[in-house]
Amino acid sequence: MINLLDLDPPALAAFFANRGEKPFRARQVSRWVHQRFVADVGAMTDLAKPSREALAAAAIVQGPSVIRDTTATDGTRKWLLDAGNGNAVESVYIPEDDRGTLCISSQAGCALDCAFCSTGKQGFNRNLTTGEIVGQLWHANRALLADGVKAAWVAQGRAPITNVVMMGMGEPLANFDNVVRSLKLMLDDNAYGLSRRRVTLSTSGLVPQIDRLRDECPVALAVSLHAPTDALRDRLVPINRVHPLAELMAACVRYIEKAPRDFVTFEYVMLDGVNDADTHAHALLSLVRDVPCKFNLIPFNPFPGTEFRVSPRARIAAFQRILADGGFVTTIRKTRGDDIDAACGQLAGQVHDRTKRRLASRIPVVAAR
Ligand code: SAH
Ligand code: SF4
Repeated sequence: MINLLDLDPPALAAFFANRGEKPFRARQVSRWVHQRFVADVGAMTDLAKPSREALAAAAIVQGPSVIRDTTATDGTRKWLLDAGNGNAVESVYIPEDDRGTLCISSQAGCALDCAFCSTGKQGFNRNLTTGEIVGQLWHANRALLADGVKAAWVAQGRAPITNVVMMGMGEPLANFDNVVRSLKLMLDDNAYGLSRRRVTLSTSGLVPQIDRLRDECPVALAVSLHAPTDALRDRLVPINRVHPLAELMAACVRYIEKAPRDFVTFEYVMLDGVNDADTHAHALLSLVRDVPCKFNLIPFNPFPGTEFRVSPRARIAAFQRILADGGFVTTIRKTRGDDIDAACGQLAGQVHDRTKRRLASRIPVVAAR
């Protein structure tokens, strides 16, 4: 059985071509799956009955299996999804007045072991499949529609999710092929039809894959910078030992040539007494001098066993001021869904709950307003 969620547009076209069907069949089925979020091939009513029956015998639409579904008082909603073998990943829906953003995971665990990241501390379990990645978007849209989500654009017939950020569990560029297949579905007019500017991928800095992404599927790029010098970044983001800052900055400049936005967003986690001094901010200004960019400062979210603390609010504000005075748009990430975090904190110690806590602490780029 083929899971239709696993097929990107060329694969879906090939699937129908091999079955002797006309190319429009792929587009038609894609719209049923990715625009009407139909799970049952039998419900695809504009396919002739024999076609439908033959398809139902060969393919299914298999979405994720939900372990837990929680909504915070601010409307942030999280789905904890089974990834098998006691592992779970999470998608987070962040509603705002003018958009609905979904934060998507790309791997169960992560091999890159950043010092301040509890996904990293858990180690790597496995890459998610294309169907598991795009299935998060399929499922969120479907669940929100089923629950009668209120949004002006939904009333006009558009899908609830208008923006995607690949900022959940895992390093998306370390699962390159499945992530790019998923991105292609997000962008395809017969699937989710999102513009490249509304899809953001966050990476810890895999330089060769940043170049490949630029060539194969450029979307908006966020880079987890977190330190202005190699000495400090080597410690916080170990992949820096392989791809140091000068290489990373050059890759960002190359990326912008083809990117849908004319800047890269640098994420910078604020760690008390580690990377948050005025001197760090000034060093950042000289590091990014030639890179068109914005900064997004992320207050550190602590987790059990971590050696780090979050920088005081006033320190973050002072840091922001230096970068802004240096000419760079600098936002502070707003924390969303705190009340769900708190509940999860009480349940620490089980794999699923650790996963949930980790994801909850990385709600994506939402500019402070
Ligand atoms: N692996 C990718 C994407 C997922 S992480 C990456 O590293 O970019 C999304 C963002 O959350 C990254 O900027 C990451 O550095 C940050 N992050 C990880 N742990 C965090 C924590 N405990 N508190 C705040 N931000 C964290
Ligand atoms: Fe992996 Fe990103 Fe966490 Fe680093 S911050 S360990 S790259 S998920």
